[in-house]
Amino acid sequence: MQKQTLLYQGKAKSVYQTDHPERVIIHYNDDATAGNGAKHDIITDKGILNNHISALLYEQLNQAGIPTHFHQRLNEREQLCDKVQIIPLEVITRNIIAGSMAKRLGFEEGQEPPNTIFELCYKNDTLGDPLINDDHAVALKAATYEQLDTIYELTSQINQLLVALFAACGVRLIDFKLEFGINSQGNIVLADEISPDTCRLWDSQSQEKLDKDRFRRNLDGLTLTQAYQEILNRLQQFKEQV
Ligand code: UDP
Repeated sequence: MQKQTLLYQGKAKSVYQTDHPERVIIHYNDDATAGNGAKHDIITDKGILNNHISALLYEQLNQAGIPTHFHQRLNEREQLCDKVQIIPLEVITRNIIAGSMAKRLGFEEGQEPPNTIFELCYKNDTLGDPLINDDHAVALKAATYEQLDTIYELTSQINQLLVALFAACGVRLIDFKLEFGINSQGNIVLADEISPDTCRLWDSQSQEKLDKDRFRRNLDGLTLTQAYQEILNRLQQFKEQV
């Protein structure tokens, strides 16, 4: 598959057209941003780690029958995916309360709610990705109610699969963000990366944070790459066992 023109340049990834009209190559770089781009740094090898982690998670989701954009990891920094039209929504799942929800609603971080919490944010950098509800998403023409039903159903299935997978690796999946796209057949598929940049992951025993909060909050101890490497090592061990 030949890499051609740059289609999209994101904060941590670039998307290239290939010689196949329905496939793109996604390249993971080492940029780390937080606070809607307010904090920025280059973290050597982060792109390599996230490419490996995301590919491994997508392989498991594909095997479980979740419709996704992912085909295969091509090399250290690139993966081959279906070309999709991204739905401009960030779908956040919270198993344990942390981050912006703890702050906004006065919860203590680490509390386990009786129910799983799903949130929608409108993907719009100028507006700072505001939290919205289903009616807003439909009014914005980001998705129809029917598409939202599919998105929530898939998100719930993905949450169950990922919680179990990470638990088998001694990791708690606290919360995470998903994005969906529409492929050339008009179907909704999971798209974008799933990595410690987009998930909160805590060690099941020590509760140590093994995710991007190390960067967001300048945590002492493990470096960001050491934490991400630990996640990758555990996922690779899990893959070898199954
Ligand atoms: N998240 C993300 N991209 C975003 C916002 C959030 O991947 O633009 C992920 C984040 O890593 C966490 C979850 O979504 O796993 C919930 O994030 P939260 O709303 O608490 O926001 P944050 O504290 O990251 O600002």
